[in-house]
Amino acid sequence: MPIHEKNLIRPENLSTHENLVIDGVDVSGDWSTFIKPRVVTDYNEGLQDEIAALPGGEYIHRCWQCGSCTNSCTVNALDPDFNPRHWIYLIRMGFEDELVRDKDLIWQCVSCNKCTYACPRDVVPEGVMKATAHWLELKGYTEKSPSTIFDEEFSSQVFRTGKIEDGRVMMGFFRKTGQSLLQPWLVEFVKKMLTGLPLGWMMKMGWATVFHPRTKGWARARAAIEEYAHEKELEHLAAVRGGHPEARFDPAK
Ligand code: SF4
Ligand code: SF4
Repeated sequence: MPIHEKNLIRPENLSTHENLVIDGVDVSGDWSTFIKPRVVTDYNEGLQDEIAALPGGEYIHRCWQCGSCTNSCTVNALDPDFNPRHWIYLIRMGFEDELVRDKDLIWQCVSCNKCTYACPRDVVPEGVMKATAHWLELKGYTEKSPSTIFDEEFSSQVFRTGKIEDGRVMMGFFRKTGQSLLQPWLVEFVKKMLTGLPLGWMMKMGWATVFHPRTKGWARARAAIEEYAHEKELEHLAAVRGGHPEARFDPAK
């Protein structure tokens, strides 16, 4: 039995009479509020499997709807519309249309993992939120989030050199997201580094940023890791596109 929080009911599904008297009893306003009946016919029976096929979504089937994830959630405390328990319910029921209505909220998970520690069923709700945001992108419902763009920049540097240089990751991320490098917090950060870090270390970082050093013998490892990443990408696309990774998905249909 799902839990119904009032803020989850869309205003168009509520019916209230401002002036209503029944058998001499005044039931105006909240006393006459009803949830209108509705019929859902467009289930996606494979929705739970699609989410479970993506990293983080594997244990969604364990959820018993206790609500501990939502109760402990950092973002829910600021915005009651951010509700992991409710989205897990929608996914398990196959209510794709209702889930997609919240596409601009789901990516806002800050990965604090308070829900993960609170969950009595080891669902890993944080992982489910990440898998759901990934699913929305793969299905074409949303653009790539900044978080996905950052992950791609990070991974591409590992693939190329077997190493990470923080400065290059940040520069690549800002370039791809159209952000200025001269952000006040970053300028302050660099100033602190210039005054606080030993000179030798600073020179090493600068050299690495310009010359892109590689891990020794990286070429063979690179081929293997790229092949694995490509296989996984196809696997994820196939999971959300009915087994056909090359198929394009039209969210309008
Ligand atoms: S990880 Fe995300 S869903 Fe979980 S408590 Fe933190 S903000 Fe909420
Ligand atoms: S805490 Fe775990 S079991 Fe409870 S509603 Fe959230 S995901 Fe489901």
